Amino acid sequence: MNACVFCRIVAGEAPSTKVYEDDTLCAFLDIRPIATGHTLIIPKTHAAELDDLDADLGAEIFRAGHRLALAMRRGALAADGANLILNDGRAAFQTVPHIHLHVIPRRKGDLFGVTKGFLLRRSHDPAGTAASIRAGLAALDDDNARDIEGTQP
Ligand code: 5GP
Ligand code: ZN
Repeated sequence: MNACVFCRIVAGEAPSTKVYEDDTLCAFLDIRPIATGHTLIIPKTHAAELDDLDADLGAEIFRAGHRLALAMRRGALAADGANLILNDGRAAFQTVPHIHLHVIPRRKGDLFGVTKGFLLRRSHDPAGTAASIRAGLAALDDDNARDIEGTQP
C-alpha cells in the first residue's frame, strides 16, 4: 500500500470528496476545513515538495487554483475572495508531504487570520459544499462561453 495519503486518494484507495479532476490534477475538500469549501489541489503524480515538482505542473496547479477561487465566488458558497496557500516543506508547516495548494474561500467580515483559522477548524457538509463548488465551475464555464461568443463577429 502506498504510504502517501494523497496518492491513495488519487488511486481511489482512500475516501475524499472530489470537486474537480483531470488527467494531471485532482481537487478535493480538506478533511479539516478552516472555512466551508476549503479545497486542496494536488498533482496526481507524487511530488513531496516544490523541489520535486515540475514547473509546468506547478503552473497548472495555480491555474486550477485561480479557476476554483473564481468558482467559489459563484453559486451557494458566494465567497468574496480566497486565500491560495502552498506550504512548501516542514519549515513552512507542510504536514502532508505531497504538494498541495490550499484554496480557502473567504467572506467579508469572517475576520479570521489564516494562522488562527488553521487552529480553529470548522465542521462542514462535504456533499453540499462540493456540489456548490461544482455548480460554480459550471457557471464559470458558461460565463467564459458567453464571453467567447460575444467576441465573435
Ligand atoms: P499542510 O499543512 O500540509 O499544508 O496541509 C495539509 C492539509 O491536508 C491539512 O489542511 C489537512 O486537514 C489535510 N488533510 C490531511 N489528511 C487528509 C486526508 O486524508 N484527506 C483530506 N481530504 N485532507 C487531509
Ligand atoms: Zn503522494
